[in-house]
Amino acid sequence: MPKRQDSAEIQVPRDPWSLTILKIAGIHIRLHATFLLAIAWIASFDRNSLPLFIGLFVCILLHELGHALTAIRLGYPIRRITMYPIGGLATLEAQPSPKHEFLITVAGPAVNVVIAGLVYIYLRLSPGGLPNVFFNGLRSYVQDPDTIRSYFTMLGLANASLAIFNLLPAFPMDGGRIVRSLLAMRIGQVAATRIAGRVGQVLAVAAGFYGFFSGNITLLIIAGFVFMGAGQEIAASQSTDPLARVRMQDVMVGRTETILPGMTLAEVGELLLHTHQHDFPVVLGSDYLGLLTRERLIQGIAQQGRDAFASSVMDRDAPTAGPDDSLLGHLQSYGQDAFPIVITDAGQRVLGLVTRDNLMEYMLLRRLA
Ligand SMILES: [Zn+2]
Repeated sequence: MPKRQDSAEIQVPRDPWSLTILKIAGIHIRLHATFLLAIAWIASFDRNSLPLFIGLFVCILLHELGHALTAIRLGYPIRRITMYPIGGLATLEAQPSPKHEFLITVAGPAVNVVIAGLVYIYLRLSPGGLPNVFFNGLRSYVQDPDTIRSYFTMLGLANASLAIFNLLPAFPMDGGRIVRSLLAMRIGQVAATRIAGRVGQVLAVAAGFYGFFSGNITLLIIAGFVFMGAGQEIAASQSTDPLARVRMQDVMVGRTETILPGMTLAEVGELLLHTHQHDFPVVLGSDYLGLLTRERLIQGIAQQGRDAFASSVMDRDAPTAGPDDSLLGHLQSYGQDAFPIVITDAGQRVLGLVTRDNLMEYMLLRRLA
């Protein structure tokens, strides 16, 4: 789906506690200050595990990129990924539809499953075959002279654990998000978030107790983050703007006149007079090409005359969106230039239009209802 992302260079908000280390596909990859502290801490007492830590960092980053690139493909802008010592966070600018949230979430753990699978194949094919990791574990990594093979063994195990750990249904972790998206398809976003969030908090309390009594500080910290994160998401879902849950298809005008690129401006002028529509998607076959707005039509007639073709004055960069896209997300990314929005399916077929007037009418009716 082209043209949804190129709306302008997206500004990254300032965050004095993290530092951009590289940019991938327009996404700022940032290291949080606590991450640098963790590296220094590990390096100070255990230099041997630094390579593993860095390998793990790359795998977690790839996991986040799995989320981020899927989100971008589905039309949600992603500004940055911030890496913390306990994991990464890809910041989505808008709440995706349940179907999209499901796909975006699954993509992260899927990356780790693929990496673990590749490592498994590599070890199987390498001389010596699969090591017996359950008995040797970390000790083999530190002591085994065959360091490359044991390094990959550890990395493969780490990726398998990352996939399993992230899929635990403890919202806002990935597993919990998957549960939320599946519930949201049936009972709506707010109720789904409340249920998934409460389940996440119960699991976090259980994990926190276990971490405390077994002396596992990392688990205790993660449980704390999950507990607070779940609470914040529940609060956010209940207080959000009513617009946040509006999808394009809720406000779209489905019956839309389209025009051909070879129509003259005079002909389009006739349509403008005799229909209620102000803006006309230009379509060839079943492909959307651009939008001829009333302003462009009038300007075009003044500058190029009544016999100019629609294709020469249409706006090729008018905002487009999918029927399931969030209206609020669209407004946030396009600002003043958000309307009119051409709604197309994945194959660039025009489904309808959303104009400022539609939105006004929709809000008015909702208030009356
Ligand atoms: Zn994830």
